[in-house]
Amino acid sequence: MDPIFSPPLHRQRHQFVIDFVKRNKPQKVLDLGCSECTLLKQLRFHREMQLLVGLDIDGATLKKKMHGLAPMSTDYLQPSDDQLRIELYQGSVTQRDARLRGFDLVTSIELIEHLTLADVDRFSEVVFGYMAPVAVIVSTPNYEFNHLFPERTGYRHHDHKFEWSRAEFKSWALKVCLDYGYEVEFTGVGDPPAGQEERVGFCSQIGVFRRLRGRAVCNMLFCDEDEFSYTLLYSKNYPSLHDNKILQRVLVTEVLSGAETLRRKWAEETTGDRDAADGRAEACGAAMRILAEHPEVEDGELSWTDGRGQQESCELRRCVSVPLAVLWSRCPKVRGLGGSLSNLRQLLMDHPDVTLSQDGSAVLLNDQEQEEEEHDELEDSGYAEARVCSLSVEPEENWDANV
Ligand code: SAH
Repeated sequence: MDPIFSPPLHRQRHQFVIDFVKRNKPQKVLDLGCSECTLLKQLRFHREMQLLVGLDIDGATLKKKMHGLAPMSTDYLQPSDDQLRIELYQGSVTQRDARLRGFDLVTSIELIEHLTLADVDRFSEVVFGYMAPVAVIVSTPNYEFNHLFPERTGYRHHDHKFEWSRAEFKSWALKVCLDYGYEVEFTGVGDPPAGQEERVGFCSQIGVFRRLRGRAVCNMLFCDEDEFSYTLLYSKNYPSLHDNKILQRVLVTEVLSGAETLRRKWAEETTGDRDAADGRAEACGAAMRILAEHPEVEDGELSWTDGRGQQESCELRRCVSVPLAVLWSRCPKVRGLGGSLSNLRQLLMDHPDVTLSQDGSAVLLNDQEQEEEEHDELEDSGYAEARVCSLSVEPEENWDANV
């Protein structure tokens, strides 16, 4: 039946839900009879959502399709600030499960007509009485529209147990509202031919139910029961910056690239591009200042302090020291991710890709030019042992407050 509609009817139904989600921004959404997870796949892009759950009685289809709900590579490369969790359950809408209570939105798209009328009553009690979400969207075929398809006999699908006229749908919906404390608006998708709107109605009829204020209290009767009748088949937390490990990884990338940019600016200046460097001096002033305080670095021999505070002397690899305070003031992304300077230092401290100065106030970068020169020399001489030392930087007093 879909081909006569453009976009196809099933897409129009899903778009109806997506538009509702855009307007109402529910945080917890449950799709009943989610089948191939097509709607869930689209809903996961609405990142104000924190929990997205699908339920279907057909576990085999869920298992076949559930991997399409996994995060994509872009979700890992650019983790969101939001927290999204997706879960899929195998079970029947005629049974209760405490994990599916308290949602903001429950959708039931072309599901109820697959239930016997006795099971529709159970569905009403479970969904409206027990799950008691803030809103419910129910779509089901409008039998009156079928007359526009004379070649078709019987119901639209072999598994449909019934198809309701608008009056039958309305009568069920109003009873639900009365029994469980909801109000309902009737609408639909799949427009009838011009002039037949009143006579035929939409191809898919839709009821949008909203829980009346104060009625949630009645459902507290169920609160003590912890029923778990569904089987969890799939659960996935999407990459989020709320995960400390992910935050640390993204932050390290930003810090290292920010520090590298400052280092390059400094290097350009020291190679004599004076006019341009004047303009950039302010940008990397603090980074350069620390280098200027250690001119002896050039000579490769310097007294430094090891992790235990002992003075040692060694042949030194040249480093560029970029104070975190400079990165903080120059890189908005680092600021956004770090939260505070001390938090930033904490997150960088034990990361293997980052070398901090002893007082933790600066990132140390190896001088690449020197490394390249040394590499050439080592290759020439056949000397293969690498020497790595960190430059000790004078602690800046109260550097946290300098920003
Ligand atoms: N909502 C989907 C598919 C609708 S087809 C869409 O919009 O495309 C109906 C789905 O309901 C099927 O996947 C079927 O397995 C499921 N279903 C049927 N009876 C069910 C029940 N008692 N509990 C949960 N799901 C059921």
